[in-house]
Amino acid sequence: MLLMLAGAIVWSGSRTRDERQNEVRREARSMARMGSAYLSQYFDGLDAVASALMRHSAIAALDPAQCDALFAELLAEQPLLLNVVLRDRDGGLVASGAEPRTDRTSTPAPAYLLEVLKSGRPAISELYSGPLTGQPTIGQAYPVRAADGTVVGVLAFSLNVLALRKVFEGLALPAGSALTLLDQKGRVLVRSPDGERYIGQTIASGRPHALADDAPVQTDIDNVERFIGTASIDRVPWALIVGIPRSVVRERLTPLFARNLAISVAAVLAVVCLSLWLSHQTSRGLNRLRSAAQRIAGGDLSTPVRMAVPNLELAELQEAFITMAANLRATRDALDRQVEQERKMREMLQSLQRQVVRQERLAAVGVLVSGVAHELNNPLQAILGTAELLERKPDLDAEVREEIGILKTQGGRAREIIRNLSRFGSQQSSPPTVVDLRAVIEEVMQLRRYDLEKASITIEVEASASGKVNANVTEMEQVTLNFVINAQQAIESAGRERGRILLRLYDDGRKVRLEVQDDGPGVAPEHEAKLFQPFFTTKPVGKGTGLGLSVSYGIIDSYGGVIGCHGNEWNGATFFFELPAAEISSDQVIAVTSRV
Ligand code: ADP
Repeated sequence: MLLMLAGAIVWSGSRTRDERQNEVRREARSMARMGSAYLSQYFDGLDAVASALMRHSAIAALDPAQCDALFAELLAEQPLLLNVVLRDRDGGLVASGAEPRTDRTSTPAPAYLLEVLKSGRPAISELYSGPLTGQPTIGQAYPVRAADGTVVGVLAFSLNVLALRKVFEGLALPAGSALTLLDQKGRVLVRSPDGERYIGQTIASGRPHALADDAPVQTDIDNVERFIGTASIDRVPWALIVGIPRSVVRERLTPLFARNLAISVAAVLAVVCLSLWLSHQTSRGLNRLRSAAQRIAGGDLSTPVRMAVPNLELAELQEAFITMAANLRATRDALDRQVEQERKMREMLQSLQRQVVRQERLAAVGVLVSGVAHELNNPLQAILGTAELLERKPDLDAEVREEIGILKTQGGRAREIIRNLSRFGSQQSSPPTVVDLRAVIEEVMQLRRYDLEKASITIEVEASASGKVNANVTEMEQVTLNFVINAQQAIESAGRERGRILLRLYDDGRKVRLEVQDDGPGVAPEHEAKLFQPFFTTKPVGKGTGLGLSVSYGIIDSYGGVIGCHGNEWNGATFFFELPAAEISSDQVIAVTSRV
């Protein structure tokens, strides 16, 4: 841009210089024409003076004394005239305004005067040295006629060529200008300045005008380069040349150049300042966008702050960034949701896998246990039968009878354990009926209320389900009771003074779910997998057998249900079972008996 500006300045400078040169050339031409008009005017004036003199009687009478006085008077008025001369028909001197340096009779008439006498027409001489004055002069001569029209003499004005430049004083020429009047032979008639030096010099032979005004600039006779303007004079074959020095163009250009230079420098400075400001603004905007991009790259997808930017492109870039951040945010949120969903699904899958593994393991254990229980049952029956028989003997002493009693008690306990183990092995005791789990809960509450109150444990019930399942009512009571007793024992094991238990019964789709929630210590993670295995207990010997949950598992599993546990918001444990809801037909009798 600066190069373009510099080019424009150079171009404008050269145009301005050309314009000024043309202007000066036109000025020289018009000055020359004006000078020519001045000279013609002067000659017209001379004509008028001559015609006035012609009418004077002394002239017509060729009276020397009167004419001398008349001419002397005229010379005093006309500083540009060297002399005024009257000659008779033969060219003899009659009168002279200037005192002749020699005898009047010995001054022969110049040839052009004889020509005027002969032709009877006015004429102008070439440059010559005046015979009377001895100075360079040009003569303008008029024929003097008698009343009958015959030429009786000639009246001549000798022009003072040294003073003739005064004719051109009205021309306002610039300093250093030169004015040159050339005759038809290229001789200098008038020269200003330095008239004396050049008058009579031929400055170009064969050409009337030594200098042509079509050249842009020419070297004048004083070796100064000038713009030339020429004009020819109407009544004489002369040329007037006006030369205005080249330096005038320079002088006129200088202030223009100075002004243009000042404007250009100011413009350049303004452009530079504007460019700097714009580039500063642009780089600021880009820096902000870069830090916004870095923030986005660093994972901060919050909407970038919309800031003032210097141009449209940056504004669009900023909008694109904001849109990009919004899109990235939406994409990231969608990804987060997807990841969370996948995590939940994975957890659910893992839990199901664990459940499947546990169920398979428990099923295997169940088969094993029921087999062992069956095998142990027969010898145990035999032991108990034998103990019965022994006890019936009358002659037994008290000590033996007591030991047989211990045998029977422990044997009975073993039989009870074996019966429970059989239940774990899914051996159903009686065919299922429709059981109302709300009634089961009521029964369990009645059984446990007293104990729980004693232990300062509050028990609440939330029952929002119909609660009908196909099962054995005793077994349902057994499972629920087992849950409640375990919850109480867990609360007590934590050494808490008070506790809470919540029984919740609700429909879960086509299933009925019963939960027992407590605020005890919860189940340790390492115990979770073993909870439903037979004989797993964390309770002290004599308090827990580790069969409650395994038997419950056997019961629920035998009805196609699910049993399990998880943590809760009280930081305790929630044990639950789910059974398929019972299809109730109108003829079915629902009988729920309350049992202690
Ligand atoms: P037992 O009650 O004879 O120990 P269970 O099979 O009923 O046998 O219980 C097995 C184990 O499960 C318990 O010893 C206890 O560690 C754990 N358990 C059962 N219920 C709860 C509960 N509500 N809170 C904490 N642990 C429990």
